Amino acid sequence: MADRVLRVCALYPDLMNIYADRGNLLLLERRCEWRGIGFELAGAGLGDEIDPDAHDLFYLGGGQDRDQQLCAQDLATVKRDALHAAAGRGRVIFAVCGGYQLLGHSYELGGERLPGVGLVDLETVRHPGPRLIGNVAIEVELNGEPAVLAGFENHGGRTYLGPTARPLGRVLSGHGNNNHDGFEGVRRDNVIGTYLHGPLLPKNAHFADWLIATALGLERLEGLPDALEDDAHREALAAAGV
Ligand code: GLN
Repeated sequence: MADRVLRVCALYPDLMNIYADRGNLLLLERRCEWRGIGFELAGAGLGDEIDPDAHDLFYLGGGQDRDQQLCAQDLATVKRDALHAAAGRGRVIFAVCGGYQLLGHSYELGGERLPGVGLVDLETVRHPGPRLIGNVAIEVELNGEPAVLAGFENHGGRTYLGPTARPLGRVLSGHGNNNHDGFEGVRRDNVIGTYLHGPLLPKNAHFADWLIATALGLERLEGLPDALEDDAHREALAAAGV
């Protein structure tokens, strides 16, 4: 049996999983496996209670507005306290696009206001204007070092960070949170939200490794022969014009 095990909990894996969210989970699994790190994947659907101590990383993927409508109330009630406890204990909570939009105070669409889980100070509003679609590159800081992430975004919602929130990164190319302030995503300690998907982690193996290391409480992980992954990253950057 492996000495170390990364324990991942996918929240609403059947509802919140568009744009290669399963690919992101698969990549985490493979990169653990290649290093002899064990990998456990659990799922928590509607109505399921979660144990904040049973997992190192909680993953919340993308979803269409109707999927978010199904999950928002459950996230903000059944799972709220456990996720706040997990965040307080330094567990990684990683949310992409539709999941990211539910990390904050609320997601307003039409006349409806979906509650968020309140882990970060942000609001999202469904905009009547065009969807923000395209390749995107952002500059972030990982372990105090600058790094670039590349991905694809497709969202109708615009996200606005409140005064106590910090972005995950700054937009180098693409739309980001709202096509306006140059911010992308959110980061509060190990709670991370981003609009980048399609699939984010296979295009940014360095970020996947940072997530794994952070979730396991390690400074860094041993390197892997990443020629293919580096090519995928370069291609994604080139697609975003960076
Ligand atoms: N439903 C959300 C929006 O359109 C998120 C979509 C997604 O996860 N791609 O803004």
